[in-house]
Amino acid sequence: MEALKYYSTNLNAEEVTFSEALLKGLAPDKGLFMPIEIPTFTNEEIKSFTQKEYYEIAFEVIKKFLVGQINDKELLALVKDAYNFDVPLEKGFDNKYVMRLDQGPTASFKDFAARMMGRLMNYYIKKENRKLLILTATSGDTGSAIANAFYGLDNIKVLVLFPDGEVTDRQRKQMTTLGKNIQVISLKGKFDDCQALVKEAFSDPDLDYLNLSSANSINIGRLIPQIVYYFYSFSRLRKPARPAGGGDESDDVVFSVPSGNFGDMMGGVLAKKMGLPIKKFVISVNENDEFPVFLKTGKYNKIEPSKNCLSSAMNVGHPSNLARLVALYGGVMNEKGEISKEPDMDLMREEIYSISVTDQVTKETIKEAYEEHNLLLEPHGSVGWKGLMEFCKEYNIGKDQLCISLETAHPAKFPDEIIEILKFDPKLPASLEGLENKEEFFDNLDNDYSKFKNYLKNNY
Ligand SMILES: *Cc1c(COP(=O)(O)O)cnc(C)c1O
Repeated sequence: MEALKYYSTNLNAEEVTFSEALLKGLAPDKGLFMPIEIPTFTNEEIKSFTQKEYYEIAFEVIKKFLVGQINDKELLALVKDAYNFDVPLEKGFDNKYVMRLDQGPTASFKDFAARMMGRLMNYYIKKENRKLLILTATSGDTGSAIANAFYGLDNIKVLVLFPDGEVTDRQRKQMTTLGKNIQVISLKGKFDDCQALVKEAFSDPDLDYLNLSSANSINIGRLIPQIVYYFYSFSRLRKPARPAGGGDESDDVVFSVPSGNFGDMMGGVLAKKMGLPIKKFVISVNENDEFPVFLKTGKYNKIEPSKNCLSSAMNVGHPSNLARLVALYGGVMNEKGEISKEPDMDLMREEIYSISVTDQVTKETIKEAYEEHNLLLEPHGSVGWKGLMEFCKEYNIGKDQLCISLETAHPAKFPDEIIEILKFDPKLPASLEGLENKEEFFDNLDNDYSKFKNYLKNNY
């Protein structure tokens, strides 16, 4: 079968195959790769998911985007290896649920995307008999997600740089206790210094032989795996099949997505285009409200600098995936956020509801959700849940309507907030337990490019 091609949202680069888009990350014109055509499922295929395990649904979804690029047996092995953890669906009340995407190795929903992207990269690199070195600067969370996602892959090594003393003990240990193909540097500097060294290494021709890559968060290989859990949750919670003519209740779903760079919600938007009956998206953001304002007024203004809120992974003043959303609604937005062709705003408003939630309300919602519905949420999930509650109120959503709010991190990753609001220390998930007693491996380095370069040359 002929491979599906991917274009750049800046419309100024050649179309490429999935593996090229995956290994390139960003298009040469600085745009984001998108499939030229969105594959679809029939209703029968979507019904068949009720009988399938998570990894089997992942196989069906991802396969559609990789036609002609991988055989079934190999893809099935990769998804089975990537998705070896639970995806709990917890009832709040009526038909309103929380989907917990926090059971992966770093207890963040980013595990879903990073684990699959790592395995796909490894697969294509190995096929070409190449090696890859992933360089990542981190202020804490990204480094541990990438390190854990790529841990144990045979043709890819990972080197993470973190600023000395500026990540939490737990964050550090999530990276430094792994070993194998994961190496870690504690840099005597700030996060920006880590990033500057990484950047300089990328543009240093002496290091070309290392095949450096960044596992960037805008990679299309991270987006496609995020389509899967929308199909999965619907397959588990949809109404049971009725005999023909029996009842007129609609079988559809509302999703609420706590959003920062809009990678998560893009997975949902793609799921809808593939045929999942999504009635509405609730895009819940923190005090960085550039998107709800854009949706309302049609005018887009970045927030610079972004505001610091409790839901820190959503402190984004210009979502890096927004250009993809604009593209799906027929518009064009460049990497700076400038719109050269208006998207269909009316259609966007019909399909998406968006709301900004303040830190104060985020805290109140953590308390309410726990006391009234026995739901333990952390700040990101709380923003999502509050958005859903407001949408249901404003649109008079009935008891029967299926609604699913996404919880994107484990509450135990935010002990200070939970203790302050709920007066107890949440129990650690198994994946984060026992870190204290594990041996750590990392090197210390001065903030000096020539030393960093020597380190790279000596180690790889
Ligand atoms: C990254 C992240 C988000 C935001 O996801 P986007 O895809 O950037 O919108 C939300 N919650 C948590 C815990 C995250 O780590």
